[in-house]
Amino acid sequence: KTQEVSRVMGAMKSQAPHPRTFTRGMQTVTLIPGDGIGPEISTAVMKIFEAAKVPVQWEERNVTAIKGPGGKWMIPPEAKESMDRSKIGLKGPLKTPIAAGHPSMNLLLRKTFDLYANVRPCVSIEGYKTPYTDVDLVTIRENTEGEYSGIEHVIVDGVVQSIKLITEEASRRIAEYAFEYARNNQRASVTAVHKANIMRMSDGLFLRKCREVAENYKDVKFTEMYLDTVCLNMVQDPTQFDVLVMPNLYGDILSDLCAGLIGGLGVTPSGNIGANGVAIFESVHGTAPDIAGKDLANPTALLLSAVMMLRHMGQHGHAKRIEAACFDTIREKKVLTKDLGGNSKCSEFTAEICRRV
Ligand code: NAD
Repeated sequence: KTQEVSRVMGAMKSQAPHPRTFTRGMQTVTLIPGDGIGPEISTAVMKIFEAAKVPVQWEERNVTAIKGPGGKWMIPPEAKESMDRSKIGLKGPLKTPIAAGHPSMNLLLRKTFDLYANVRPCVSIEGYKTPYTDVDLVTIRENTEGEYSGIEHVIVDGVVQSIKLITEEASRRIAEYAFEYARNNQRASVTAVHKANIMRMSDGLFLRKCREVAENYKDVKFTEMYLDTVCLNMVQDPTQFDVLVMPNLYGDILSDLCAGLIGGLGVTPSGNIGANGVAIFESVHGTAPDIAGKDLANPTALLLSAVMMLRHMGQHGHAKRIEAACFDTIREKKVLTKDLGGNSKCSEFTAEICRRV
């Protein structure tokens, strides 16, 4: 019923000309449920928001790959139009065909909305057993270029080339985001992660920009470290890290390593922040096809992403309450999904959080 209402409201809202839409104090959020377990965990988040009386109105949009004029892959216009208007999105996982077919829709979303900063807070959850209990760090990954620029070609049969693109502008922009994030979130240090000893020009440029930006943030400690050294130190003692900023590929890999330290992708939220106030928050796990449709998925990652979203929207009270209800449920261990060591269904875990908000 909630989905139906939000769909109808969505259709009504799509007529509205405003850049960001409010209805009776409600803020519109574009909801991209995604594939596999995406619709189940999206429903869980909507139920919890409803129970917590969060003044958010969902506008559901599917994101499937379509070809636009000239045969170029694009996201459906209805989804783009909704995001252009709401500026804020919450997204479940999207499946990507391997090595052929349409490109990653996640990549396309990032490019379409210039979501240049991928932010992943990795904080240990009290009561949930993991190798470490006191991890509290944030990875900030440049999201638009590096090895993921999508520039690949065959040179001759049997030889392919992928281009790693690093620009001064994108490097400065992500470094500034990292320092601003540190300052605004009372974080003491920023570490630039790089391989400038090997990739002297590309990572060299990235590092130079980080150093330059650091000069303007004397209140935040700046350090720099090779990616391999970070990996070694991270698994030995993650508490030494605070905010880490890095190019795209390194961030993709290192952020998953950090997620592993706090219990895996099922509990790790993320936000993709763009220029002009646009942001899409998403669970970082995939579509989990093995458990899709079985009411077994853990909605925590999407819920905590929605909590990040609320903070981004300035809804700190609701964010705190929902986060506490989620963490209390996990700490108490009575109602947990299978991946968290319990026997409960997604719907039961969701109901328990709803009861507490
Ligand atoms: P996956 O994350 O979907 O699954 C890996 C394992 O983790 C599976 O056993 C799965 O059951 C489990 N798992 C994942 N999320 C869970 C949750 N919330 N609750 C309980 N268990 C969970 O990774 P995969 O199998 O490599 O990828 C499947 C599809 O997802 C692929 O098409 C891939 O491209 C896509 N994918 C999308 C995103 C995204 O949209 N951000 C990210 C990663 C993978």
